[in-house]
Amino acid sequence: MSNSYVVNLRCADKSCGKEYEKKANYVCEDCFGPLEVNYDYQEIKKNLTIEKIISREKNLWRYKELLPLDSEPTVGLNSGFTPLIQADNLAKKLGVDELYIKNDGVSFPTLSFKDRVVSVALSKAKELGYETVGCASTGNLANSVGANATAANLKSFIFIPSDLEESKIIGTSIYGSEVIAVKGAYDDVNRLCTEVLGSNNWGFVNINLRTYYAEGSKTVGYEIIEQLGWKAPKNIVVCMASGSLLTKIYKSIKEFEDLGFIVPNETKIFGAQASGCSPISTAVKNNWPIFKPVKPNTIAKSLAIGNPADGINAINLLNSINSYSEDVSDEEIVEAMKLLAETEGIFTETAGGVTLACAKKMIESGKLPRNESIVLVITGNGLKTQDPLVNNITKPYIIEPNIEDFNKVLGKEK
Ligand SMILES: *Cc1c(COP(=O)(O)O)cnc(C)c1O
Ligand SMILES: [Zn+2]
Repeated sequence: MSNSYVVNLRCADKSCGKEYEKKANYVCEDCFGPLEVNYDYQEIKKNLTIEKIISREKNLWRYKELLPLDSEPTVGLNSGFTPLIQADNLAKKLGVDELYIKNDGVSFPTLSFKDRVVSVALSKAKELGYETVGCASTGNLANSVGANATAANLKSFIFIPSDLEESKIIGTSIYGSEVIAVKGAYDDVNRLCTEVLGSNNWGFVNINLRTYYAEGSKTVGYEIIEQLGWKAPKNIVVCMASGSLLTKIYKSIKEFEDLGFIVPNETKIFGAQASGCSPISTAVKNNWPIFKPVKPNTIAKSLAIGNPADGINAINLLNSINSYSEDVSDEEIVEAMKLLAETEGIFTETAGGVTLACAKKMIESGKLPRNESIVLVITGNGLKTQDPLVNNITKPYIIEPNIEDFNKVLGKEK
């Protein structure tokens, strides 16, 4: 056992704190709060150093002491360590001094940040002895569970809303998973999966394995810090579905501060949602302590969770650090997808459009300072969500195969 820093699981509600065995437990039976992984940080501090991390392979497991396995990882050995790009062209366009893109749109193997959480959840599933795994998904999770389960010789049942983008459905079925398209929204899919779990001893990555799964998101934050030269940025903007990614990136920064790897930089994290599904942003904007569930209606389908599992955590976090969360229309999402492509050569999916469009809005309103470092977390790839662009993008010139026609295009016609 190389890696036994997990003590147990613990109720995340500080006033409860009930402890559980490190099995597929995920909800507190006393207060129904979510569980969190309880690490022995004292031991980690004694054993983990920056030098040790740097000496390892460039994948998400280089931070394995801070991930919730008891044995060596078996899934996702080539995932993580995506590029962090200094985005000077976009910075100029937005009128900010220092801007970076963390590009999980090129994540291996399925082009979204979900490869991180799935690597952790399926490694844990194998450790716990599950032979069948599954998930409730808004699309990218389906792709990643499909690919990673197949490669790990696990059987998989993948539940999605039936109105998902064609490319996300094909990008799941191709791996030979059992894909179940449910006539309903994500929240209906999720509820059904909980019922399915009642009669099957399976590992659902974002339900009974969720406590482990969520920890995988921390690696986005670790990598940003490492790639900035062991320094936390001043501001990070993240799009939200369940709200888990946002809260875990923040946790990763606090962990690196507590381990003494970085000097605290008062990093603020900002949320981003589509106006067609913005329960968290709406609560933050109105100073509500809790969100009102909504019925999603947006092109940003990967973020379309109307009743977000970590919504309250995200709201509490954003309020506690005096931060903010914005939302944008479908038109603004498409414009931002084009803007990122035209300035930085990065084709992101609708979710990335949400992140950039919200960042732009928060720069204009003064919520995001123009003279501080900003990291935009781009979570998925545009090849998966091309539908909203079909009638919204410059069409190619269509010409006969002769030089005269081409010269007409160039405006050189004599
Ligand atoms: C799932 C997803 C998110 C948000 O994840 P949460 O942790 O549920 O908030 C963001 N971007 C993309 C592309 C996703 O697929
Ligand atoms: Zn509890």
